[in-house]
Amino acid sequence: MSLSESLSPHVTRHTSHPPLVTVRNLTLRYGQQIALEDADVSLRAGEFAAIIGPNGAGKSTLLKALVGLIMPEAGTIAFAPELGRPQTAVAYVPQQQTLDWAFPVTVWDTAMMGRTARLGWGRWPNRADRERVAEALDKAGVYDLKDRHIGALSGGQRQRVLLARMLARDARILLLDEPLTGVDAATQERIMRLLRAQADEGRAVVMVTHDLEAAASACDYLVLINRRVIAQGRPDEVYTPGNVEATFSSSHLGHTHAHA
Ligand code: ADP
Repeated sequence: MSLSESLSPHVTRHTSHPPLVTVRNLTLRYGQQIALEDADVSLRAGEFAAIIGPNGAGKSTLLKALVGLIMPEAGTIAFAPELGRPQTAVAYVPQQQTLDWAFPVTVWDTAMMGRTARLGWGRWPNRADRERVAEALDKAGVYDLKDRHIGALSGGQRQRVLLARMLARDARILLLDEPLTGVDAATQERIMRLLRAQADEGRAVVMVTHDLEAAASACDYLVLINRRVIAQGRPDEVYTPGNVEATFSSSHLGHTHAHA
């Protein structure tokens, strides 16, 4: 056990990689309502982490803060200097149902948006971009669907197109909001294998889910939240009846509501 691990028994890690992202004392709110209070979380290269909690726990809000879509009320989010600009270091996969699937674009175009978002507007995709997109579609198992309109896809296919768009970005930090929701068991397994491979290649992978079972069996690190961080660590450390109760029992919902 390293010195830092022995000093912080609640945050032991299987890896000694320095964090790519360090969240300190983070509080996020919408108007008067606190969505997440005083959270400390670090995300490491090579690690597949899951953020777990019930509906309304603040999971999506935490992810949005990491992408820069929501500004912290208090606290800090620090990216490792080696990452350069956070905009290119982070790829974000929002919940499938938040997107407009009637938008008239093909699977190929959607995956290409992962490249153009990275490279900036006003630059035409070159051959390397096209190769990268083809590879991403192939890894996600949707290359054969490349000319299809995204509106004509099943839920599982849509999720895989979003994964292809994420892969095309070639980011070090991958943030996914509920990637297992609305897809069949075979696709879930494919997604988990793909995310594991991304972590093994040295990326920090973070998945929001309410599926504690799936996360505990496949992820390296669990962050249990319910408007605050209830527990975090390796699954064998934090997947305990007490932590599950504290995270999912409804008595915790609303306890941090602020009133004007
Ligand atoms: P989770 O992803 O864990 O289901 P969210 O992060 O979406 O939870 O939401 C956390 C809390 O913030 C919830 O109480 C939710 O109602 C509230 N919330 C989420 N988005 C907004 C918003 N755009 N405006 C106001 N409140 C919001």
